[in-house]
Amino acid sequence: MATTQKTLHQYGLLFNGAWRETDDTFSVVHKHTGEEIARIGKASRQDVQDAINDAQATFKTNKLTPIQRYDILMRAAELFQARKEELALIIVQEVGKVLKDARGEIDRGIQTLIASAEEAKRIAGIGVPLSQPGFDGKMAFTVRVPVGVIGAITPFNYPFNLTLHKVGPAIAAGNTVVLKPAEMTPIIACKIADIFLEAGLPAGYLNVVNGFGQETGQYLLEDERIAMYTFTGSPGVGRHIKSVTGIRKVTLELGNNSPNIVHVDAPDVEKAAELCVTRGVGNNGQACISVQRVYVHRDIYDKFIEAAVNVAKALKVGDPEDPATDVGPMISEKEAKRVESWIEEAVQQGANIAFGGKRNGAIFEPTILSSVQPEMKVMCQEIFAPVINVVPYQDIEEAFAWANDTCFGLQVGFFTSNLQLAMRATQELEFGGVIINDVSTTRADVMPYGGVKDSGIGREGPRFAIQEMTDERIIVINL
Ligand code: NAD
Repeated sequence: MATTQKTLHQYGLLFNGAWRETDDTFSVVHKHTGEEIARIGKASRQDVQDAINDAQATFKTNKLTPIQRYDILMRAAELFQARKEELALIIVQEVGKVLKDARGEIDRGIQTLIASAEEAKRIAGIGVPLSQPGFDGKMAFTVRVPVGVIGAITPFNYPFNLTLHKVGPAIAAGNTVVLKPAEMTPIIACKIADIFLEAGLPAGYLNVVNGFGQETGQYLLEDERIAMYTFTGSPGVGRHIKSVTGIRKVTLELGNNSPNIVHVDAPDVEKAAELCVTRGVGNNGQACISVQRVYVHRDIYDKFIEAAVNVAKALKVGDPEDPATDVGPMISEKEAKRVESWIEEAVQQGANIAFGGKRNGAIFEPTILSSVQPEMKVMCQEIFAPVINVVPYQDIEEAFAWANDTCFGLQVGFFTSNLQLAMRATQELEFGGVIINDVSTTRADVMPYGGVKDSGIGREGPRFAIQEMTDERIIVINL
């Protein structure tokens, strides 16, 4: 095993540009070795209120121009680039993400920030012709204004890029932020905040309140001074946030049990199999758009399974700090045990393990299941683990219906060389994103990203998040 960095990170809470210690703390462990790597201050209800006070006072008294926001975000992107290796190692340790995926996350987060900076310069409304009897001699246009204080609540699985998907657009749009990072992975969020301060972000723009969801997160939800919540996490918590925040704005980026369809005329069946496996187990299977359900046309099913198993066999499983490792530990042994029990249950109900299926501590092997049924947990719930299920189909109508037969609707992948069928898929598949000839896991950080049904509401991607994080104000002038 690679040597673990011995530094014990210590962070409190960030209000008004300074870190404050708290009496109450919690520890963060290395997800592979289990050793303590950080002690983090836990925010009380009073601390959360203090953070919101600072965010609100800053919003009212210290406005940044779009060019100032651009400069700060670009400077932060440069600092992240310069510290890439240090930051990637933190992600490896606190998430258990393998080094190559952690480096990829840093690269993506930097792009998210650069796109946010660029968008800061082009936030604009529209001209509105008042072409209606009685409105002669009047002109109108809209402007977009920041909403105010944004409460950002993030999940454990992409703690760098997803934090920047919230903080980048929020700052670009002129808002202030109170950030509540996932309690399993708060170190990188604290580093992000430090680097923003170094990049010249004025005190009070980004405040960090650490702690557990049902305490610190809940305090954040109960304060009416937060104008908007931007949340990424599980559907259950998303539903709770929507139910307690009344008529305030919310953006919810939730889960999925991503379907992928490989049709008989797929341009390259082996390539499709490789993508389904590598993007099903990448990030240790813990991505909201990880490949989970794979529907393969009956005529190419055997070829697909053989290719998929060969790809899975070649993957290196183990220490996430080793640059050659493909699959490392899940976020906790408890989660790996949950997956083990779901698979045992599926096998009892008739599923077949084509590859993998075993757990070693928090590590779950890359796993391919066949002979699965729609009502099995491994199929109908979000597995959030390095597991894919492969199902044969005869007619494309059947595959479209099965793909849609879910409470989720984030992204879907469809492999075909038939242009007409591809176009039909874009109409018939009920998801926020339909990816043709690539897997559901495909995401460019600049694209509009978000789901329908239980996968959420609102869109991320800096340009689209800025729409969510600003209000449209109409200006009418009587000439
Ligand atoms: P989670 O819902 O358990 O936690 C997410 C955040 O919510 C954490 O910061 C947590 O402390 C906080 N929280 C929990 N209870 C709360 C409460 N009562 N009030 C306020 N905050 C509360 O999710 P997770 O396990 O960290 O992440 C995994 C989930 O995130 C999966 O479902 C995955 O699909 C989803 N996800 C979605 C996207 C997307 O963009 N759609 C991206 C990544 C992850």
